[in-house]
Amino acid sequence: MTVKPMPPGVLATGAPIVIVGAGAAGFCAALSAYEAGVDVVVLERDSVPRGSTALSAGLIPAAGTRFQKAIGITDSPALFAADIQRKAHGEADTAVVKSVAQEAGPTIEWLADCYGFPFSVVHDFDYPGHSARRMHGLPTRSGFELIDRLRQTADEAEIPLILNATVGALYAGADHVIRGVEITRPDGTRDALACQALILACSGYGGATDLVARYIPEMRGASYFGHSGNRGDAVLWGESLGAELVHMSGYQGHGSVAHPHGVLITWAVIMEGGFQVNSKGVRFSNESAGYSEQAAVVLAQPGGIAFDIFDERIAAIARQFADFREAEACGAVIGASTVALLAGRLNLPQAALAQSFAEVEETKRTDKEDRFGRSFAGAAPLSPPFKAVRVTGALFHTQGGLAVDEEARTLSAQGGRLPNLFAAGGAAAGVSGSLASGYLSGNGLLTATVLGRIAGRSAANFVKRSR
Ligand SMILES: Cc1cc2nc3c(=O)[nH]c(=O)nc-3n(C[C@H](O)[C@H](O)[C@H](O)COP(=O)(O)OP(=O)(O)OC[C@H]3O[C@@H](n4cnc5c(N)ncnc54)[C@H](O)[C@@H]3O)c2cc1C
Repeated sequence: MTVKPMPPGVLATGAPIVIVGAGAAGFCAALSAYEAGVDVVVLERDSVPRGSTALSAGLIPAAGTRFQKAIGITDSPALFAADIQRKAHGEADTAVVKSVAQEAGPTIEWLADCYGFPFSVVHDFDYPGHSARRMHGLPTRSGFELIDRLRQTADEAEIPLILNATVGALYAGADHVIRGVEITRPDGTRDALACQALILACSGYGGATDLVARYIPEMRGASYFGHSGNRGDAVLWGESLGAELVHMSGYQGHGSVAHPHGVLITWAVIMEGGFQVNSKGVRFSNESAGYSEQAAVVLAQPGGIAFDIFDERIAAIARQFADFREAEACGAVIGASTVALLAGRLNLPQAALAQSFAEVEETKRTDKEDRFGRSFAGAAPLSPPFKAVRVTGALFHTQGGLAVDEEARTLSAQGGRLPNLFAAGGAAAGVSGSLASGYLSGNGLLTATVLGRIAGRSAANFVKRSR
């Protein structure tokens, strides 16, 4: 991934704004630049736009939306911003947090009202760290639906999307002004494309094992569950351009991936009153702290394995997610009418599992925190038929990246901004700080959709001012 001067004599066609990456960030940036009246081209490595966006549950947090109001949920951007910073241990950039918290509601309503995205709020369970129910999702609760709708919307707007186009190099001189990009096609041929402003929407470095080992040693060797084409290109270009990189050790993990099936099991199974035991049948943590930090906690258990324990009532809630339905279809969800039978089916010590059940149910009855500091306040007792899934921990996506300001403009390590480079989504530093525990549910698509939309508008304004 190089940065080099544009070679003399290169006949570069181009567009005022070029966007690298056709995930949620790239498409939201493209739509907002298009609405601002500036032409844009989106470049995507794959033959079909998917990215980590397709692998996600497609849930975007937003506060104060009409969807929340319609079902009686009171919320505000200020409350949302406070939740983000509390989870991020105060490490996230205050101006960026304020900007994305304020713009999230309008972004959801923009996609709904201008483009017909049929959002609804996940209203039947709490996500860790959110003080209001504010996750907005599409009917299937899957990222495939989100990315397909975004692509269709961009197609209808006739926004040029060039597929099978890997951006391998940026053209910039010593002044760090980006003049264009070099595209490599699958057959090895190369094209040049000029631009006045560049938006990096090519996500993070989860797919680059060397970068993961360098920046996130605790996830070295963990399964990576995100898009394999996210190889840290934004970070490598940023390094060459003297961009400020921040929170490079930050990431979203997940402590509940069905193993060996490799299917995400929604954390609703835990938050609704379920719990995790290890292969000895013993609980080991406060599971409700968050699923991101739970990845490393689960991987530290014998064999890197744990078991989600819940019941049929909770499974019924989890079935709104396509992933959970897939997990049931492929046999990852085990059921049993008694704890003893469940222990037998999971090959867990029966007495230890019964003891773990008894501990959890006693905590629910007394309404006090348990020995790990978890409160089960308001959770119903588990009742037969019981359910369980054998899970492991995985790396979902990285949260470090190019430092940006509240207008998605990239910052230089020397101070000030890079002249015409913008970043959003996984390419930009997120709002989770430097630790896995700093990730508040939905931070990924929050900075993809909301910061993406801001980046498109911001780049369009830059181009207009330069005319
Ligand atoms: C299993 C899973 C579940 C998740 N669930 C949620 C959730 O419910 N809510 C949430 O907020 N977040 C969730 N996330 C995180 C979320 O998916 C990401 O934060 C978000 O999709 C990032 O969007 P993006 O547009 O930045 O990147 P992506 O969607 O990954 O898109 C980046 C695109 O850039 C392309 N690209 C990369 N390099 C180049 C290059 N050099 N040239 C051309 N193209 C390139 C890639 O091929 C890719 O298509 C989840 C992640 C995973 C893995």
